[in-house]
Amino acid sequence: MLAVLSLWKVSPAAAPRFCMTPAHLRGHHTLGSASLPVAGPSVRHVRALDEERLMAVEWEDGGQSLYPFTWLRDNCQCPRCTLQSAEARLLLLADLDIHTGVDSVEVTKDSKVGHLFFFFNWMKKYCFLYLYLFIYLFILALCLRYYWDASLRIPTADFQDVLHDDGAALAWLLALRRVGIVHLKGAPAEQGQVARLAERIGYLRLTFYGHTWQVQDKSMANNVAYTSGKLSLHTDYPALHFAPGVQFLHCINQAQEGGESEVVDGFHMAEQLQAEDPEAFRTLSSVRVDFTDTGTDYCDFMLQSKNRIIE
Ligand SMILES: [Zn+2]
Repeated sequence: MLAVLSLWKVSPAAAPRFCMTPAHLRGHHTLGSASLPVAGPSVRHVRALDEERLMAVEWEDGGQSLYPFTWLRDNCQCPRCTLQSAEARLLLLADLDIHTGVDSVEVTKDSKVGHLFFFFNWMKKYCFLYLYLFIYLFILALCLRYYWDASLRIPTADFQDVLHDDGAALAWLLALRRVGIVHLKGAPAEQGQVARLAERIGYLRLTFYGHTWQVQDKSMANNVAYTSGKLSLHTDYPALHFAPGVQFLHCINQAQEGGESEVVDGFHMAEQLQAEDPEAFRTLSSVRVDFTDTGTDYCDFMLQSKNRIIE
């Protein structure tokens, strides 16, 4: 939308409309408010509320948004204050006058206006009410966690659907976020599928075992995962300062006998422990213990770190 809201502080000597210097913005009071009918598809009215130090925008759909003067000054969208190509601020904090007031408000379709202007579509997007609702819904939708026990029915998704359908990929990621584990079915029984899946949403993180690795029985194993013995429940890479966010395991060749995968929800366990034995929880979540990992694989490695059992 081309409509632009201009908001500026005029110096006592009447500053040029589109050419202001920081000195012109150093007023600590507002000289008045402007209220004018606005033409345009989505905005009905804009006015400055001097007492409250708020800009009120009435939208065609009947809603109203309020923006503090200081916040508007801080978020000016003009080329001097914002690098549009990066959507990043240029305004230095040292140059921000938190007492900026408003002398005049003008709505224009002229995109060549100077300092202190805002596009209405940008203002609507960052309306505090809408932003609050968005954050609230975001927390509800994305941050809701489901802690599970043995009654869990592990969510499933189709590997090919996830690779080729954005909706399926989003559903997979949301389930992964909420539950922590998803069983993908239908992947080709050959190497390289883990990388395909990871590259669908990001990139593989290089570790000292390489980008990917084969979990199989090896002589002179440098990890207990490379033996045929049973592994107890564990957290991978506890020696790293930043543990893996998501891990992909691809079963290419199922054993005739054995080879079961066991998973447990560590958050659920921690929550239970906290309720049943608070002292044990305090100990495990406060005392740092040594983790080490030493060997040779993708490179030589010797890690030593101190981390809490429950972070
Ligand atoms: Zn500006």
